[in-house]
Amino acid sequence: MTAHADDPIPFPIYMDNSATTRCDPRVVDRMLPFFTTEYGNAASRNHAFGWHAEAAVEAAREEVARLIGATAKEILWTSGSTESNNLAIKGVAEMYRAKGTHLITCVTEHKAVLDTMKHLEQQGFSVSYLPVDPLGHVQLDQLRAAIREDTILISLMAANNEIGTLHPIAEIGRIAKERGVLFHTDATQAPGRIALDVETMGVDLMSLSAHKMYGPKGVGCLYVRRKNPRVRLTAQMDGGGHERGMRSGTLNVPGIVGMGEAARLARESFATEVQRLAALRDRLENGLKARLKDVHVNGDPQRRLPHLCNVSFPYVEGESLIMGIKEIAVSSGSACTSASLEPSYVLKSLGVGDELAHSSIRFSLGRFTSEAEVDYAVDRVCREVERLRAMSPLYEMVQEGIDLSKVKWTVH
Ligand SMILES: *Cc1c(COP(=O)(O)O)cnc(C)c1O
Repeated sequence: MTAHADDPIPFPIYMDNSATTRCDPRVVDRMLPFFTTEYGNAASRNHAFGWHAEAAVEAAREEVARLIGATAKEILWTSGSTESNNLAIKGVAEMYRAKGTHLITCVTEHKAVLDTMKHLEQQGFSVSYLPVDPLGHVQLDQLRAAIREDTILISLMAANNEIGTLHPIAEIGRIAKERGVLFHTDATQAPGRIALDVETMGVDLMSLSAHKMYGPKGVGCLYVRRKNPRVRLTAQMDGGGHERGMRSGTLNVPGIVGMGEAARLARESFATEVQRLAALRDRLENGLKARLKDVHVNGDPQRRLPHLCNVSFPYVEGESLIMGIKEIAVSSGSACTSASLEPSYVLKSLGVGDELAHSSIRFSLGRFTSEAEVDYAVDRVCREVERLRAMSPLYEMVQEGIDLSKVKWTVH
């Protein structure tokens, strides 16, 4: 199923797998009957159409549960990780409000977590935003110190979507358990890339999304622990009481079937795929470093996702670089904060200066990335960086040995 070295390169080349992934053709095949012949509502209890749909949904639930070491009853279907994060955080905050009103998260979380926390602050909750070190890690002693009597939830992502840094989830889970605080993790970037097990990781709630793991868009799930402790949530949507009353709404049966198959494939190919992705990522990174001076890799070079590399090319504007390599799909350091050209808040929180943040690009490889595509990208990116640098007065000054930090700039 994965690409081979002698396959022709399909243009444009897709290297933005952290934004979304191609739906695996095997996933599509499994989904198709649920649009055409098996179109029942999984909540229809009195005919075969409903029974078939329900059976398919429950089989998918088993698959997703298996991927993360959970039981099927602990999986709630949602529309994706944005909804899962909202449901986990708001659902816990509202349910446990009498116990406490303090939550802990971190400055590099996805907006679906950060904006949910902001919303809760407006509702009278208080939130601690842990800072990160230059590699993107939270300091565990700072986490411990942030926990208060009234803390009800810690929400820290398993893997960062911009820089790939991995949080020590099992250690965080232990700290949360010691202090009797619930622990939610946004693990959207993790499936098929790092091992997940809710037991060894001490996770109480986990968000996943199908379209980040070669499944369809618009479907995801929330893992909700049922024992030690049993986690309760306040529903965020009122209606028919689907999903044990925690998430009403007719189930997206084809999408759920697709997510189940995506989970099965992620589990099945995990060991070989992680190695393959890391080798491709290293080939990309080493290729760039071998040919270009001044290439900075952002995030933790060791504890990180195997498929992602966020690189800064000083003296080059990231947006210009992306425009110059249109046949390669990547993300820029500012792409994640909507249409604005603000540098990424994640890179800024690492202490990366605006200049360097503006010159950064995120490459995220995937199941369908080939070696030939990586080699093409290395050559193409290097040529474009060289071309842009050749036009940069700043780069010229640096080449002449001028220390830019000592230059007195006058503004007219
Ligand atoms: C993509 C992503 C989300 C949002 O997921 P959707 O399913 O697209 O809503 C949340 N968190 C992380 C880390 C992501 O990468």
